Amino acid sequence: MGTLFRIALYASGDSAANAAAAKAFQRVEDLNNILSDYKEDSELNRVSDRSGDSGWTTVSPPLFRVITKALEVAKKTDGAFDITVGPYVRLWRRMNREPEPQLPPKKILDKLSQSIGYQNIRIDSIRKAVALLKPGMQLDLGGIAKGYAADEALKVLQDYGIRSALVDAGGDIVVGDAPPGKKGWRVAIRSYNKKGKARTHILLLANRAVATSGDLFRYVEIDGKRYSHIINPKTGLGLTGQSMVTVIAADGITADSYASAVSVLGPESGLRLLEENPDLSGSIGFRENGETKRVASSDYEKFIDE
Ligand code: AMP
Ligand code: MG
Repeated sequence: MGTLFRIALYASGDSAANAAAAKAFQRVEDLNNILSDYKEDSELNRVSDRSGDSGWTTVSPPLFRVITKALEVAKKTDGAFDITVGPYVRLWRRMNREPEPQLPPKKILDKLSQSIGYQNIRIDSIRKAVALLKPGMQLDLGGIAKGYAADEALKVLQDYGIRSALVDAGGDIVVGDAPPGKKGWRVAIRSYNKKGKARTHILLLANRAVATSGDLFRYVEIDGKRYSHIINPKTGLGLTGQSMVTVIAADGITADSYASAVSVLGPESGLRLLEENPDLSGSIGFRENGETKRVASSDYEKFIDE
């Protein structure tokens, strides 16, 4: 998944800890083989390879779960989160390798746009099968799979009787019970304060997930403008808002996907989405007229450890 997974846990002894952690990492590895779009022979790519041929592909429970959740989030965010952005993401990656990247010509974006749109994904819940209606579609789970894998790794640890653990999938973090004698896991979030000054705040979390998404660190610079690896599915181009979004939810798959979605929606609609959805809390840092600002949902403060 292009990131480093880390696990912190409390166990009765070294051997119990190591055995459980090894199984949890193995689970992540197995999921990577299914969900990655970098691995040519991943199950995900085998589904994409059949796009437009009007056939159904029966898929494994993890792939079915992630695609189903991704469609739910796409509908709730008006397509801001859309796993069919694969062709745009590949274009972005090509630009990222250029010594002097240029914006793609409109003709290319128009052509790719014919293979975009979550409405072109069909799922059959009985047979656990997926069909992609348009040719050239490429699914990309980069905005949701890390959170899901973290959830699954935590479940493995819990199956081994470990209650108090943290799984970090490169910034998508899922935690179980608090460390012994503590109220929660302390997770440091780099952001801005309400006045726009860079600062770190600490979240105190138990049995929760937190994901951070943003276009501050991964971007292609063209004519002085930064185009993030998070794509606006409506334009095919990377976001330029330089935002930093943190979302807290009950599980990693939800926090991860909504953090990416809120990045696309921007501060106004993004905050509205967070406020309207009682299962989500979050904070959005962004730049406006050269100034850095931050807004947060009204219940976000209750997670902050002062
Ligand atoms: P994240 O770091 O969780 O915000 O996810 C970013 C990754 O999600 C990108 O590297 C792409 O693989 C994928 N992605 C980019 N734009 C979108 C989008 N609008 N909807 C869903 N996934 C996206
Ligand atoms: Mg995400």
